[in-house]
Amino acid sequence: MDWRSLDEHYIVSTYKRLPIAIAKGEGNYLYDTDGKGYLDLFTGLAVNILGHSHPRILRALREQGESFLHISNVFLNPPAIKLAQRLIERTIPGKVFFTNSGAEATEAAIKLIHKWTVSEGTGRAGVAVMKNSFHGRTLGALRLTRQPHVYQDFPQPAFPVYEMDAEDLEQLRVVCREQKPAAVLMEPVLGSGGVVPLSEAYLKGAAEICRETGTLLAIDEIQTGMGRTGTLFAYQQADVIPDLILFAKGAGGGLPLGGVIAGSKLQDLFKPGDHGTTFAPSPLSAALGNAVLDELLDPAFDEHLREVIAYLWNGLEELRTRFPQQLQSLRGKGMMVGIPLSVSPEDTSRLQQNLLGQGILVDVTQKTIVRLLPPLTLKREDVDRFLQVFTSEIEKLPAGREA
Ligand SMILES: *Cc1c(COP(=O)(O)O)cnc(C)c1O
Repeated sequence: MDWRSLDEHYIVSTYKRLPIAIAKGEGNYLYDTDGKGYLDLFTGLAVNILGHSHPRILRALREQGESFLHISNVFLNPPAIKLAQRLIERTIPGKVFFTNSGAEATEAAIKLIHKWTVSEGTGRAGVAVMKNSFHGRTLGALRLTRQPHVYQDFPQPAFPVYEMDAEDLEQLRVVCREQKPAAVLMEPVLGSGGVVPLSEAYLKGAAEICRETGTLLAIDEIQTGMGRTGTLFAYQQADVIPDLILFAKGAGGGLPLGGVIAGSKLQDLFKPGDHGTTFAPSPLSAALGNAVLDELLDPAFDEHLREVIAYLWNGLEELRTRFPQQLQSLRGKGMMVGIPLSVSPEDTSRLQQNLLGQGILVDVTQKTIVRLLPPLTLKREDVDRFLQVFTSEIEKLPAGREA
């Protein structure tokens, strides 16, 4: 079967696709229809957080699948209630609104922020976000996504949005005091914007400014959440208390699931009829979400995660020391790694193809940044394999242009 030409014929081409058709996933590997294996350092864009066909995920699929798949929000939904309770117990006092995707979590956040500022009569409006942020592609979420190539061809809803430079607390203070946004929304590590982590000092300072000025602090953990940066949520490393936490991607262990955790100021603002969705929370996705938490919260897993993150970063640092011209910096946190290459987009794309040829799947963002989003189940031997193949590819690159 020529999947590639059928795909071009019948599916709208909103993504550049890698030319392999997947037949099976097992552990940290994907297998194509020819049986070739690929170490998956991409995990469907940070979704398959426990790799593929994880025993806990399979068990939850079977048990919930045999019970019921969908019931709607008109009935009590035990897997979702359990998941919400567990998320709240490990984050901030509040309540959860579940969605099917990240963009829908951002949409819910926009409506909640608006309802809060109007009902409190704060006189504040809109949202301050980072330059190069990514918060989703539906129209409301797109308004908060500040990457021109993503939004420029589409209508812009009218609510105010302010763009800020990462790490500039003075600018944030001026925006919060003078422009009076209702909320500040930030990714603790800018994802598609280039894998740029915000410092703990900046996050702490931002939380302080939000408190002083009566601005809500909303954290987009859609990509950074569910253990990806080494803690359940990345903001927890900066010791701040947000008013709103957005999550999705890894939360359903491979099935669509997202949501917002609304802190005590916001938790009771939505009344019946204010917001909703037919599908979310899918009981099946919620059951998988519980399976993900079972694994992440297991102390043995936590130890594994810390160990393999340290091993990965040590290996990458060694590589950077060996190839200072090609690898001028490393960015990210935990299992979210950006490797900016000082070569052309064409050379970067060729490197990605060569890695693919040798059975390693990586992502590229912002044209020349190799992005790794490995499964949290990554093993030392997977790291060794990646570093060995990646090293041989780095050796082939032209010695870098000057930065
Ligand atoms: C992926 C992502 C989104 C959008 O999620 P979708 O499920 O693709 O709608 C929003 N914010 C961040 C930080 C993301 O990485």
